[in-house]
Amino acid sequence: MLQEEIRRRNLGTLLRHVHLDGSVSRAALAERMGLNRSTIMALTSELTAAGLVREEAPTDTGRTGRPSLVVRPETAGVYVLAFDVAVDWVTAARVGLGGVLLDRRWASRPRAGADLDRVVDVLAGFGRQLLDAAPPEAVCVGLGASYCGMIRPGDGMVRFGPDLGWVDQAFGAELGRRLGLPRPVPVGNEAHLGAVAEQRRGAGVGFQNMIYLHGDVGVGGGIIVGGRLLDGDGGYACELGHMVVNPHHGRPCGCGSHGCLEAEVGERALLDAAGRPADLFGRAALRDVVTDAGRGDPAAREALRRIGDWLGVGVANLINLFNPGIVIFGGMLRDVYSGAADPVRARIAANVLPVARERVRLRTSALGDDATLVGAAELGFTELLADPLGGAVPALPPRW
Ligand SMILES: [Zn+2]
Repeated sequence: MLQEEIRRRNLGTLLRHVHLDGSVSRAALAERMGLNRSTIMALTSELTAAGLVREEAPTDTGRTGRPSLVVRPETAGVYVLAFDVAVDWVTAARVGLGGVLLDRRWASRPRAGADLDRVVDVLAGFGRQLLDAAPPEAVCVGLGASYCGMIRPGDGMVRFGPDLGWVDQAFGAELGRRLGLPRPVPVGNEAHLGAVAEQRRGAGVGFQNMIYLHGDVGVGGGIIVGGRLLDGDGGYACELGHMVVNPHHGRPCGCGSHGCLEAEVGERALLDAAGRPADLFGRAALRDVVTDAGRGDPAAREALRRIGDWLGVGVANLINLFNPGIVIFGGMLRDVYSGAADPVRARIAANVLPVARERVRLRTSALGDDATLVGAAELGFTELLADPLGGAVPALPPRW
């Protein structure tokens, strides 16, 4: 029994290495996993027989001698469906083992209303299209969804999504039901999933301690400590956007409070600070402010200086608290940070304890607007990677 458990764990670990790296030599796997080559060979044979990986001669090692075989994921044949609900759009994708985006569908959406039915309708439709377009022999091994709100783990209930006015909406369960599944689709908070995606496949690769700030209309966050996402007691941790930075004179926040970080640095704050009309919103309007500031427009420059200062206050607090190796700005905060790096850095220099800021790097997201979708796909692969041959995954066509 113990032996069997070790074997299962090793299969999962090996598949995870291949999934994250794309291709790994048998020799490297043996070294990383601390196992001998014959054990690695036995494990890869099992995964090959199950159609999860294949072994190939390396294309060019640049070295002489007999090269070690390279293990690659069966990207085209093993995939998950990933869904992403952002404030202004919804996306669905078929993502292959190895994290390769194979096919996707996208639609814009209006901002107002608790439109659970409409959102689920669109996503379930996309899901069916993606399944129909997949090669008949390919296998769907899981699903995952990202949502811009606070999510109850287990059943994917959206407890609170202030940007869309969603309160206690059974998103995961409804999406599962509409896809004909026997259980809810796993759902994660967009910034949590974005953080995981950046750490596994983006700007945070190699960092065990990182902070990801995700700007959509508001600001969400994901904190990774010792390689693990900080999820809190109920799964609602890392609401960095509602960290109070300006309690006495702060702007009102969608959560009902005042002076939250997202109230001071979110989309509306920037557009207001730049003197843009109240009915203007969206990513393009925000980018216009950054572009205008780059051209020397005084109002846009002052707006970015102000927003950058508040962003710096928030980031300084986070660096003092968590001593991250890297802080990553994602979503619309990529645009904000690109125009406001100087005031952010000035605030960090002024307010972060010197030893805590010695090594910290500040970067924009490497995955861009796909970070949350990539994170949703990783959520979908969780069960397969935990027990690759377990067959615990229910069957959507042909296996799920
Ligand atoms: Zn708030």
